[in-house]
Amino acid sequence: MSSVGQVLKVSQSALKLSVRPLSTSFTNRQKEHCKILVVGGGTGGCSVAAKLSSKFGKGNVIVLDPAERHYYQPMFTLVGGGIKSLGSSYKSMKSVLPKNAKWIQEKAKEFHPDKNTVITSSGQEINYDILLVAMGLHLNYEKIPGLVEALSIPNGNVGSNYSPDHVDKTYSALKRVDKGNAIFTMPTGSIKCPGAPQKAVYISEDYLRRTNKRKNVNVIYNTSIANIFGVKKYADALWKLVEKRDIKVNLKTNLVEVKPHKNIAVFANVENPNDKFEIEYSMLHAVPPMSPPGELKQCKELVNELGFVEVNKDTMQHLKYSNVFAIGDCSSSPNSKTAAAAAAQSPIVYDHILATLNGKPLKGVYDGYASCPLVTGYHKCILAEFDYNLQPLETFPVSQDKERYSMFIMKKDFMPPLYWHLMLNGYWNGPGMMRKAMSIFKFGK
Ligand SMILES: Cc1cc2nc3c(=O)[nH]c(=O)nc-3n(C[C@H](O)[C@H](O)[C@H](O)COP(=O)(O)OP(=O)(O)OC[C@H]3O[C@@H](n4cnc5c(N)ncnc54)[C@H](O)[C@@H]3O)c2cc1C
Repeated sequence: MSSVGQVLKVSQSALKLSVRPLSTSFTNRQKEHCKILVVGGGTGGCSVAAKLSSKFGKGNVIVLDPAERHYYQPMFTLVGGGIKSLGSSYKSMKSVLPKNAKWIQEKAKEFHPDKNTVITSSGQEINYDILLVAMGLHLNYEKIPGLVEALSIPNGNVGSNYSPDHVDKTYSALKRVDKGNAIFTMPTGSIKCPGAPQKAVYISEDYLRRTNKRKNVNVIYNTSIANIFGVKKYADALWKLVEKRDIKVNLKTNLVEVKPHKNIAVFANVENPNDKFEIEYSMLHAVPPMSPPGELKQCKELVNELGFVEVNKDTMQHLKYSNVFAIGDCSSSPNSKTAAAAAAQSPIVYDHILATLNGKPLKGVYDGYASCPLVTGYHKCILAEFDYNLQPLETFPVSQDKERYSMFIMKKDFMPPLYWHLMLNGYWNGPGMMRKAMSIFKFGK
């Protein structure tokens, strides 16, 4: 630093002391420094923290996350259908975070990327060389008037697979339906696993068939988006499926209010919000609108206008701060927000963090891979896999737009251990290698 800079620094701190002799801000905070700070110990954060802390050893990686439990959220679809228990969807955060990383069980409250610091909810200041933001998406149930109350009614008929607090209510509501309208929703905006709202439809419809109640129940899927699925190959298969199973799909139709005491759901046309209609439900599966967590959205230097960390979609590096990266649902990369996407991002993020620390160029590109096991019933699943361009990027040498028992078993029995034992320990980077190996069997597919 130049002597002018030194003088400036000294005089600034002297000024600080003279202006605030009883300072309660930065000067009195408990301070930590680390090489890498990972904010969020969910799917993406935990898997990259595992890779980094095994590379750098103890004392170099801090994971900041207030949660007591780490949920394997893809399991919620099966919990909502009564196929798995809620207990099988989580482990304690302590047991899954890497042993070489230091866990600070607090929220990130403020981000100061110009100072390379994050302030925690108790006021600790954590200084980092590299920041990885992995805070996922926040569920905004309160944005739909009446929904929080509807979900709080004991033995009610409204459930939501998206939250561990409400997922059990889906199956208990389903078991009680014997007539009327079973309604399923999909909100506007970016959500995690955009296929999950319709998985709830198919499993419930299959349940009603198996229990001989289907003929008395209308199954209705009201979705805010303009197609049943974003990738044509799977959308074509799903349109055939809903037609065959007499599931009514209303596009561009958004849940805007619930009247819990009358069992009424109010929907609006996405293109003309004043165009509303009411429908009485005997069961409602509601998916809330989502957004990045508020603490992140507040830091305008880090995020885009919707609150997502503004990264280069190929490298996952921040557009302005080269020592900041994002992974998973809170990043601005326009992939489908899934754990599968976070798995495919994880080796890229890891390599690019190492390159940045070593002053090397970033090599390797994330292709937008995401996958969505569209569970279509108690024994069937269509495994959708695709890239940024919404083109299929399939792993197996079979037509993946067909419903298959094998894919259902993979979703139910194979993926959970893969997640807990490989992905969270930093050993699963998505099926890219498998896809290459399988490609030799793909002729004639
Ligand atoms: C019903 C459902 C079904 C799904 N099905 C599938 C599927 O079949 N396949 C698939 O691939 N994906 C699926 N997903 C999506 C998948 O679970 C997510 O995409 C994935 O978990 C995202 O990982 P993440 O690390 O970005 O966020 P998360 O795993 O959600 O982790 C975010 C972490 O950030 C922490 N956090 C939040 N705010 C703060 C803060 N202020 N300070 C510090 N920490 C904070 C949270 O406590 C949390 O631990 C499904 C999700 C749901 C809900």
